[in-house]
Amino acid sequence: MQTYDVIIVGAGHAGAQAASLLRQRGFTGSVAIVGDEPDLPYERPPLSKEYLSGDKPFERLLLRPEEFWRGHAIEVLTGWRVATVDAQARQLQTASGEYLGYGTLIWAAGGAPRRLACPGHDLTGIHYVRTRADVDTMRGELDDTDTVVVIGGGYIGLEAAAVLTAQGKSVTVVEAQDRVLARVAGEPLSRFYEAEHRARGVDVRLNSGVEQILGENGRVSAVKLLDGTLLPAQMVVAGIGILPSVAPLAEAGVRIEAGGILVDEFCRSSATDIFAIGDCATHNNAFCATGTPIRLESVQNANDQARVVADYLSGNPQPYNALPWFWSDQYDLKLQTVGLSAGYDQMVLRGDPAARSFSVVYLKEGRVLALDSVNLVRDFVQGKALVKAGMAPDLDALADASIPLKSLAVPA
Ligand code: NAP
Repeated sequence: MQTYDVIIVGAGHAGAQAASLLRQRGFTGSVAIVGDEPDLPYERPPLSKEYLSGDKPFERLLLRPEEFWRGHAIEVLTGWRVATVDAQARQLQTASGEYLGYGTLIWAAGGAPRRLACPGHDLTGIHYVRTRADVDTMRGELDDTDTVVVIGGGYIGLEAAAVLTAQGKSVTVVEAQDRVLARVAGEPLSRFYEAEHRARGVDVRLNSGVEQILGENGRVSAVKLLDGTLLPAQMVVAGIGILPSVAPLAEAGVRIEAGGILVDEFCRSSATDIFAIGDCATHNNAFCATGTPIRLESVQNANDQARVVADYLSGNPQPYNALPWFWSDQYDLKLQTVGLSAGYDQMVLRGDPAARSFSVVYLKEGRVLALDSVNLVRDFVQGKALVKAGMAPDLDALADASIPLKSLAVPA
């Protein structure tokens, strides 16, 4: 059995960054990344954007070239799926029956797309957007596709809708909630994005559930909504969230909370020498006003938690306290978010959405929790200080887009 000082399960941003940073910090032990896809670690955000549109080739998605991994003595075991973990014996078993031993395990396995469960869910022509293979399959069908139904109006659904609309497809977005981006943004932003998609011809259906997907000869032909509406579809794209990949650790008795592996401020799980980082790590976040443990599904968090583990294992522990931020590209709109708006009791609009450049600031008890900016990088950059320090700015000044946020960043 091959044994490594550190095994990292998951070849996404979190896993790749943890391995790189360990070497950067001078870690000389043996390191392996175990990934279930056939490719070297690559960036996922372009999958629903430039890779789907064909504007970026796969080679430009690679996080590091092949020589980097070799040159830094990081073994990347591609195409290996971890099936079980024995935390006592410090061993993994892969789905193909191989055993690997570890000294320290970093679980960075991310998540898998939530699957549709309605009748017809297994028809050909239904796609998810999480891996290169998902998008390659989808792209292979696009030439023969005019009509697409996108299920889910979150980041994935809206980014895919934007790309497909730009390619001239007829796109309908079906969203269960009463607004798009409901999980990640405030109402003004949701309404703005809904209007932008509609203006480009996307048929946005809110408060809509899917009853069934209909097919002909095994291939999707229509989506039937709960209200009986029949939407013709040659392709379905589902972006209905992810399920964290935690089963092997859950079965090994590691503590799970909010669907993820519960970790402390050093990303340590409840099991000795097992860490968890990225989409699948449930943690207490200093910027979460609700005070409940959360998971953050973002590249930035993957990188920040990778750094926490690399520092810890290099003998320089630094507790996790990163300020969360996110982004989304749709059409010519750049959405940038800093902070976590959950629990806000007040919202302030800066600028005019009609000008397609504005911000929404979220506050709780007068203090800034988060900020969404559309095509307004300056507010995003300057707003970080307000969120970081939980400032309580004058609300009239905050609503005046001509007053720079940096001038409001003075402690209350
Ligand atoms: P998401 O943000 O959870 O959005 C999914 C949306 O679909 C939710 O509003 C959800 O409503 C709705 N939904 C769920 N089931 C549905 C159904 N049967 N019919 C219609 N609507 C349904 O997830 P996502 O957009 O799939 O994104 C997946 C992951 O990729 C996330 O980790 C996301 O952060 C990441 N991602 C990030 C970016 C970015 O940062 N720019 C871009 C792409 C992807 P409920 O809340 O009621 O379930």
